[in-house]
Amino acid sequence: MRTSSLNPSSEPPTVVSPRPKRRHSGNDQRAVERVDLLADVASHLLLSDKPQEVVASVFRKIAHHLGLEVYLYYLFDDASQCLRLSSYSGLPTAMAAEREWLALHKTFCGLVAKNQKRVVAEDVQHSEDPATAHVRTLGITAYVCFPLLTNGRLIGTLSFGTRRRARFKHEELAMMETVCNQVAVAIERKHTEEALQELNQLLERRVQERTAQLQETNDQMEAFTYSISHDLRAPLRAIRGFAQALAEDYGATLDSTGRDYLDRMSAGADRLDQLIQDLLQYSRLSRSRLTFERVSLEESVRRVSQQLDTDIQAAGAKVEVKTPLPLVLAHSPTLDQVLINLLANALKFVAPGTKPQLRIWGSLDGPNARLWIADNGIGIDPAHHQRIFGVFERLHSAEAYPGTGIGLAIVSKGMARMGGRAGVESTLGAGSRFWIELPVAPQS
Ligand code: ADP
Repeated sequence: MRTSSLNPSSEPPTVVSPRPKRRHSGNDQRAVERVDLLADVASHLLLSDKPQEVVASVFRKIAHHLGLEVYLYYLFDDASQCLRLSSYSGLPTAMAAEREWLALHKTFCGLVAKNQKRVVAEDVQHSEDPATAHVRTLGITAYVCFPLLTNGRLIGTLSFGTRRRARFKHEELAMMETVCNQVAVAIERKHTEEALQELNQLLERRVQERTAQLQETNDQMEAFTYSISHDLRAPLRAIRGFAQALAEDYGATLDSTGRDYLDRMSAGADRLDQLIQDLLQYSRLSRSRLTFERVSLEESVRRVSQQLDTDIQAAGAKVEVKTPLPLVLAHSPTLDQVLINLLANALKFVAPGTKPQLRIWGSLDGPNARLWIADNGIGIDPAHHQRIFGVFERLHSAEAYPGTGIGLAIVSKGMARMGGRAGVESTLGAGSRFWIELPVAPQS
C-alpha cells in the first residue's frame, strides 16, 4: 500500500482536457517529489553514523513537503519502561521539558507505544478525547503518532503535527509511515553495528588474553627445557668421561661382550649429548634477541657449504648453486643455522648407494624472496609435510637415518623469528624441494 500510494503510475488515468491534465501533472510532480524525498531521506539515514541524531534533519526535509510544524521523537527507555523525548521541533522548550518523560499507558504517544499501532487524531481542537488533551494544548489540529518497531521490538515513537488543517491525506500518512520505518531500520542497523563492534572487541580481548596466556606457558616451557637440558649436560659429561677412561684404562682387560657394552654406552651418551645440544640450540633460538640486516643469500649458502664440506666430500655429493641469489632482510647467524639443517638433511636423506645431488636457486614473489633447496633423496609423503617441522618429529628410525628430529623445528622457528616462512614440496621417492621465504632487503 505504501509503495503504490507513492508510485506515480498508481495515480488516476489522465483525462483529456486542459484543466484536469494540469492537475494530473501536478499530482505526478508531487509523487515524483515524494519518491525523491524518500530516497533522499533513506540515503541520509543510511549514511549517517548517528541515525538517532538525524531525525531533526529528516523532519526538516519532509516538513515543507507535507506542511508539518511539529514533531516529537521519543525513545523507549528499557530501565524505566517509559518514553523519553529525544528530539522535537515546533513547541516551546518549557512545554517540551514538561513532556520529557511519558508513561506507556498515559498520553497519546504512550498509548501508541503500548499498543504498537499508529494513531491518527483529526480535528484535534474539536475533540474531547482525553488522550489528545496534551496535543490540544500545543494548538495542533491534526496529529499522527507512529510506533518505531524493528522485529516487533519497540524502539520509540515518532509523531508529526500541523496547526494548519484538520486532517492528513492518505498519501501523506503513507509517506510519514515510510519515513518512520526508515528511521526504525536505520536505528536498528546502528544497534546491530554497535553490538557487533562490542562483540568484536570482546573477541579481540579474549584472543589477546589467550595469546598472552599461551605465550607465558610457552616461555615457561622453554625456560624449563633450557634449564633441564643445561643441567643434564654435567652428569652426561661425567658418564662420557668415565666411559672413555674405562675404555682407555681397562679396555684391554674387557672381553668382547664387555667392550660391546662399553661402546653402546658411549654411543648412547653421544646421542644424548647431541639431543641436548640440539634442544639447547632450539631453546636459544626462541630466547635470543635478533637484529636484522641485509644478508646475501649467496654468501650464506657459500659459508654453509664450506662448513659442510667434509660431509659433502664423504657422500660424494654434488651441490649446484644457481646465482645470482637475492639479498634478504635476516639475522645472519640464524639464517646460517636454518641452511645448515636443510643442506644436511638433503645430504642425509638419500636412498642407500645414491650420491646426493643438491640444486639451490632463488625466486622472487612480490616483496619476498624464496630460496629453494632441491635434492634427489627419498622424498616425503605429502601427509607428513607439516608434521616434520615439529620438535622430535621423525619419519625414520635412528638406525636407518641418524638424527634427533629437531633440525626442521629449528628451521621453522628460525624462519618465524625472522618474519619468514619455510615449507616443502615433495612426494615419496621423488626427491624434495624445501624452501624458505624472507623479505627482500630494501635498496641501501
Ligand atoms: P632429523 O634430520 O634429525 O631426523 P629433522 O627435523 O631435520 O630431523 O627432520 C625431520 C624428518 O623429516 C626427518 O627425520 C625425515 O624423516 C624428514 N626429512 C627432513 N628432510 C628431508 C629430506 N631432505 N628428504 C627426505 N626426508 C626429509
